[in-house]
Amino acid sequence: MENNNDKKEGIITNFVLYSVGCSNECVFCGKANRGDIDKNLRDEYDKLKEISNKSKIEIVEISGNDPIEYEKITEVIWKIKHISKAEKIMLSTHGRNLVNKDLLKSILEAGVTSLRIPIYGHNASIHDSITQSKGSFEDVMRALENIYYLDNKPELIITSLILKENQYNLKELFYLISKIKFAKEFHLSIAGFVPSKRNFIKSIPDFEDLKRDFNDTLKFSKKINLKLIIRDIPVCITKDDKIPHADFSVPYKGYKHFGLEDYGVPIYMQKKKTKECESCVYNDSCEGFFRTYIEGGFIKLTPLLKKL
Ligand code: SF4
Repeated sequence: MENNNDKKEGIITNFVLYSVGCSNECVFCGKANRGDIDKNLRDEYDKLKEISNKSKIEIVEISGNDPIEYEKITEVIWKIKHISKAEKIMLSTHGRNLVNKDLLKSILEAGVTSLRIPIYGHNASIHDSITQSKGSFEDVMRALENIYYLDNKPELIITSLILKENQYNLKELFYLISKIKFAKEFHLSIAGFVPSKRNFIKSIPDFEDLKRDFNDTLKFSKKINLKLIIRDIPVCITKDDKIPHADFSVPYKGYKHFGLEDYGVPIYMQKKKTKECESCVYNDSCEGFFRTYIEGGFIKLTPLLKKL
C-alpha cells in the first residue's frame, strides 16, 4: 500500500515493546503482564533492520506497555539508535521510573530526543483513578521536576485522554499543564476503544456532555495560552475549527506484531463517518471519528450545517 509517508525523505516507524508489562493498570489498557520479551525484541530489531536497509529512518517512536519498565531499556535505545541512525527517537512512557535521575540521564545519553508523558488529572485522585495505580501522579510530578533541572532538556510533549473520570475537570487539568512551561506541546485525544475490553466501558466519556461543555474548556485553553493540539477529535465535538488539530498517522510497519500490513491501522484507531456527515460543512476536511465508539452506539455524530 502506498502512503504519503513513502514520499517523505525519511520513514517514521515505531518500536513497540508490547511484552514488557506495566505496573499501571490504565482503564483503557488494563493489566499488562510481561510476555516473551526476547521474541518481542528480536521481531522489532528485525523490522528496524529491514526498513533501515531500504530507507532513511527519520523518527523512531518507542512505545509499548511500558517501555521504561524494561530493565535493559538503555541498551535497547542504544541499539535502536545504532540500527536506525534516526535523528529523532521518541519515547512514550508513563514517566514513573524517571524519578530515577540516573535512568533519565542514561536514556537521554543513549539517544532519546523526545519524551511523551501523560497526565490524566490535575490531582492524584483523578490521575491515579485512571492509571488505577496509587502513587502514579506523584511519580510523574517528581519525574517532571527531574526533567526541569536538566541542562539539556529533551523535547517534552505532555499527553492526555478524555475519559469519564476527568471530563468534568478538564479546565483544572489544562491549568496544571499550562504551568509546565518547558513542555513543547500538550496533545489531547480520546482513548482508542477496543470492544473486547468491556471493563473500559464505564470510563467512556459522556459524549453528549462533552459536546455541550468542551468548547467552553477550549476557550479557557486559549485564555491561559496553553500550547494545545487536539488529536482525532472532530469539529462536531470541539465546535472549534481554529485550535491546531492533528489526525493519527500510521507509522510505516508500525504494528507488524498485530499481523497488520504496512500502514495497517489497528481497530481502535480506525475512523468512520456516518450518513449524518454528508450534510456537514466539514465533511470534506474531516476524517470522522473512531468507528468502535460509533458502532458501539456510544456517540451520535451531529453535523454542523454552517461554518463556525
Ligand atoms: S464530518 Fe462527521 S465527524 Fe466530521 S465534524 Fe462533521 S459530523 Fe463530525
